[in-house]
Amino acid sequence: MKTNISLPLGLPEFIILKQTIQETRILLEVETIEPPNRCIHCGFSNLKRHDKRLRRVRDMNLFHKHLHLLIHVKRWRCQNCKEVFSEPLSSVPSGSHQTYRLQEHIFEQCRDTTISYVSRQLAMSYKTIERIYYKMAKNEIQDKQTSGVVGIDEIAVRKGHRYETVVTDIIKGNVHEMGADRDYQSALEILERLEDRGLKTLVMDMWWPFHKAAKQLYPDIPIVIDKYHVVQKVNHAFDQVRKAHNAQIKGLKKGRFALLKRPFRLTEKQLEEYHEESPEIAHAYYLKEWFYDLYEQSTYEEAEAFLNTWIEQAKMSPFSAFHEYTKTLDTWKIHIL
Ligand SMILES: [Zn+2]
Repeated sequence: MKTNISLPLGLPEFIILKQTIQETRILLEVETIEPPNRCIHCGFSNLKRHDKRLRRVRDMNLFHKHLHLLIHVKRWRCQNCKEVFSEPLSSVPSGSHQTYRLQEHIFEQCRDTTISYVSRQLAMSYKTIERIYYKMAKNEIQDKQTSGVVGIDEIAVRKGHRYETVVTDIIKGNVHEMGADRDYQSALEILERLEDRGLKTLVMDMWWPFHKAAKQLYPDIPIVIDKYHVVQKVNHAFDQVRKAHNAQIKGLKKGRFALLKRPFRLTEKQLEEYHEESPEIAHAYYLKEWFYDLYEQSTYEEAEAFLNTWIEQAKMSPFSAFHEYTKTLDTWKIHIL
């Protein structure tokens, strides 16, 4: 059968070069429209056409006929690292003999019917269908299983730009959900999707919109404030004191940098020097370092007593940055401990 009408393939990365329609099957020769942007090895964008390979894959049935794609896969040579690579395809997994959408179709069909039925429908071997089904089922379970300890955080999409909300499994380290914003509504929407994931603990920053959404949806799930954020804020308070008194420690050349980051700790001698040059910075440094011991306390009662003492001392200090932080701690205390 000859025709000038291009079949509706529905895979926008390809154009059809040639179509052969037979009794029970359709053979489409296709190639990609766009060249790859970058070398898959080094990311360089100056590429030269190398050669072409033919790759045959199965796709979803079309008009009740079995659809075979003969892909003219272009190979490119990177002008930077000189490696040759086949163009990556967005509709076919690398190394696979089926398109993504056919694999998904097989998975859904197997759940609704049987493996042998799907095998007959597609004229593919029972073994192949079975292998695809189990591979997809395993992926799906892995995506959904959680350790129950789930963190909700904000991330800057680009430095200094928009913020998004991201939900991760703290123990397993994978991302569950992403939200477009970091407001209450966005938090509510993505936390709602965690409903059947065996939630046990929610870990988050001291951020009211997240907190409010979590309390509303899961009033019985404990909320824990991420240690990272708690410590980050005490570092920030210290930094403000340091900046305000920076002029005092000009004489201590190396020491200025030594103060900036842990795990570097000042030696006793250095601390003495600081104390002479700037008693304020030394005082703030002491408060900051002392705070880390919060996470060394072994019982809830000890930690609570520790935090109360620290808050008292920080309030008595002359630093407004620390005063501010004690207010935050008072508010969030029950979730930090
Ligand atoms: Zn390269």
